[in-house]
Amino acid sequence: MSYAITPPPQPSLPIMGSDQRFPVRRIFCIGRNYAEHAREMGAAVDKDTPLFFCKPADAVVTDGADVPYPQATNDLHHEVEMVVALGAGGRDIPIDRAASLVWGYGVGLDLTRRDLQAVAKAKSHPWDVAKGFDHSAPVSALRPASQVRLDDDTALSLSVNGEPRQQGRLGDMVHGVAEIIAILSGLFELKAGDLIFTGTPAGVAAIHRGDRFHAELAGVATLEGRVV
Ligand code: MN
Repeated sequence: MSYAITPPPQPSLPIMGSDQRFPVRRIFCIGRNYAEHAREMGAAVDKDTPLFFCKPADAVVTDGADVPYPQATNDLHHEVEMVVALGAGGRDIPIDRAASLVWGYGVGLDLTRRDLQAVAKAKSHPWDVAKGFDHSAPVSALRPASQVRLDDDTALSLSVNGEPRQQGRLGDMVHGVAEIIAILSGLFELKAGDLIFTGTPAGVAAIHRGDRFHAELAGVATLEGRVV
């Protein structure tokens, strides 16, 4: 067997303290997972019907590479999020088994073309063009779960050009990590290599060409980069 065209490269993330890399299969994202952020967007949290969307695996920007300002927008927004990487998968995973699927943690930006999202919302269209564009998912190196202790007060933060923009604590998530995995696995068969963006706290705002960002999941991972 040979391919008719050159197969695309496998997207992957660096791993802290290792020469190995983590291959990315799919990127799942949850929306409106912090009440203050839902409020700033003029939306309500619907706890019974979590909002999910996806980004393509090759949307990841890794190893501190520059993030090119995307085409077709004048309002690119940052959303800092904890990123969960799965080392195993399955369907209909019970919540008490869900945490055992987590391979590691990182921090990322769910970059959003907010102007296109506003149009999609107004027309009841899907969010793909607002969320799933090229280079829309800068992610840090991953830290293996065995080295990570998270609690409700673990801080998630973003500064742009040294100025604080977003601050949150994991205890403010509407759906915790195990719950997200359990619910997602009832919608999709999850597999090793999947990433989950777990939602953003309040303070989303525009980011421009030339801006430098510093995202941090305290004690776990940092992500620094630049929009060009
Ligand atoms: Mn988001």
